[in-house]
Amino acid sequence: MTSTIHLNEHNKQEYPPMHTAEHLLNATMVKLYGCPRSKNAHIERKKSKCDYILPKAPSETEIREIERLVNQAIQAKLDVFESFIPKDEAEGLVDLSKLPDEASNLLRIIRIGDYDTCACIGAHVSNTSEIGEFIISSHSYTDGVLRLRFKLK
Ligand SMILES: [Zn+2]
Repeated sequence: MTSTIHLNEHNKQEYPPMHTAEHLLNATMVKLYGCPRSKNAHIERKKSKCDYILPKAPSETEIREIERLVNQAIQAKLDVFESFIPKDEAEGLVDLSKLPDEASNLLRIIRIGDYDTCACIGAHVSNTSEIGEFIISSHSYTDGVLRLRFKLK
């Protein structure tokens, strides 16, 4: 495996609102396009980016729809829950493809209302109302990869 393993990127403390927005964006992309969650993400306090593998470039209208759905989840004031379950029970519940092989047998599962469920060891807000407004500031599509750059306001 390579350095794109998400769970290994948490050695630096992420800004919880931005990182929680990343969860919502991943869930939105999976719902809309059936694509994998972003395996190449850079999450910073001021601006972030996530890459998604898609067969074609979304239209500007689709980009605004992605943004709208993330904001809808934020405005729904969803609670963020943490739980711990054995890895074998997590099969089928969450995408385990990003877990490093040496991940412990007990997984930390983060659930955001009924919108997203994901194994993650990062820092999150306790309610999506703490995130603010989600804005896709720019996007590009190259060689089957959509890059979304986003910020919070
Ligand atoms: Zn997380």
